[in-house]
Amino acid sequence: MKEYKNQDAIVLFSGGQDSTTCLYWAKREFRNVQALCFTYGQRHLQEVENARRLAEMADIEFNHLDTTVISQLAPNSLTDKDLLMDKEKPDKSYPNTFVPGRNLLFLTFAATIAYAKGIRHIVTGVSEADYSGYPDCRDTFIKSANATLNLAMDKQFVIHTPLMWRTKKEIWSLANELGIFELVKNETLTCYNGIQAKGCGECPACIIRNKGLKEFLSEIEEVK
Ligand code: ZN
Repeated sequence: MKEYKNQDAIVLFSGGQDSTTCLYWAKREFRNVQALCFTYGQRHLQEVENARRLAEMADIEFNHLDTTVISQLAPNSLTDKDLLMDKEKPDKSYPNTFVPGRNLLFLTFAATIAYAKGIRHIVTGVSEADYSGYPDCRDTFIKSANATLNLAMDKQFVIHTPLMWRTKKEIWSLANELGIFELVKNETLTCYNGIQAKGCGECPACIIRNKGLKEFLSEIEEVK
């Protein structure tokens, strides 16, 4: 990767495992880093308070944007309490944890804020390696959005996706490399049921997170 030590970045930040790892990755790669957290009618607003707390711990400016309108546009189980969450990916469609349009809107908001603040770099924790296959987490989508945003605002934004090709196990490994393994393990909130650290253990987010952790820990054991 190019050296960006004299440039600033804005990180899309939810306070979960992935974006917290991205936040510290960005702290290592850039001069000044800011966090941008969105609310969109998630089931658990403590997500935002946890994100704010984590940004404070990282000594990073915290920005919060209310984008609740996203949840009013299309039904999904992250914002609709009456909808039972899909545990697996149904055939030929996406699980109802998919929030259509969300990442494109998030990137548009992030680029608009970056434009206003004179920031060139945008960091997001999407990955296509180990997930439910959401279309707006794929590398081709990110590249396309990057080109569109540059054309829309006549800027040379660079969207960074340090987790794009990493499995959950490898994301734990990156956290370890960044010296934040314990912080990610104990302080982040990934669980769809709003339970910090280990989570409920049963929702799709917990299953993926805990499986990756187990794989990472057993790999470390083997090396010893
Ligand atoms: Zn859970």
